[in-house]
Amino acid sequence: MARVFCIANQKGGVGKTTTTVNLAAGLAQVGQRVLMVDLDPQGNATMGSGVDKRTLVPTVYEVLLGTAAVREAARRSEAAGYDVLGANRELAGAEVELVALEQREHRLRDALAAVQGDYDFVLIDCPPSLSLLTLNGLCAAHGVIVPMQCEYFALEGLSDLVNSIKQVHANLNRDLKLIGLLRVMFDARITLQQQVSEQLKGHFGDKVFDTVIPRNVRLAEAPSYGLPGVVFDPSARGSKAFVDFAREMVARVERF
Ligand code: ADP
Ligand code: MG
Repeated sequence: MARVFCIANQKGGVGKTTTTVNLAAGLAQVGQRVLMVDLDPQGNATMGSGVDKRTLVPTVYEVLLGTAAVREAARRSEAAGYDVLGANRELAGAEVELVALEQREHRLRDALAAVQGDYDFVLIDCPPSLSLLTLNGLCAAHGVIVPMQCEYFALEGLSDLVNSIKQVHANLNRDLKLIGLLRVMFDARITLQQQVSEQLKGHFGDKVFDTVIPRNVRLAEAPSYGLPGVVFDPSARGSKAFVDFAREMVARVERF
């Protein structure tokens, strides 16, 4: 049965999409069957996996509205090594259209039920908000992975997210757990980042993943080639860190 994880943080530019595509590629490299679901109308995770969002029909939009099945809409990214349920600008409209539908928070969960046996991992890239799209992600998931930069205001933003996860857990999805906090774009030479990192561990203990993702320009260059960094330059420090993170996730899932 597939384990479903949301990569979420209500802040933009914190590394959600980079984490989603590189964790997907890392998991594929260690032999896992992976479906990556793009829930952001920007479609960056789709493009960054080598699937052209501009010509893509159907997308996750049709899946949410119930006019296409996941198997029809998913595309194989041969280069990246995993399947992609892609998104484009059309998805922005779903926000409004979903409001009128039954089970509006559970559309993605219900659609994914049909492919439970096809994958070991389903990773969902969320938009930077707590919208109905993100709620669909949280309602479909067993757990949330939160990428974060070790900056001054990082802890403040976290309490909002942790509260939202608690609310969803209490009202909509009893399976949902905070799996862990992933330190990304980390620069060990910056004292403040080390301090925030220590604070995080003090606060959240073993909810902080052991793996740390360094700031690495190869990870930022990879999307323009339509590839996850892990595939674009396997020897880069950032890529190796994401493969380590994939192994850490496999080990965590085995302990569930
Ligand atoms: P989000 O999805 O949260 O908006 P992104 O994953 O798109 O964030 O990342 C924001 C920017 O930071 C992108 O330009 C991305 O290439 C860059 N980036 C993300 N992670 C790293 C990293 N570890 N090292 C260097 N640049 C990174
Ligand atoms: Mg993103």
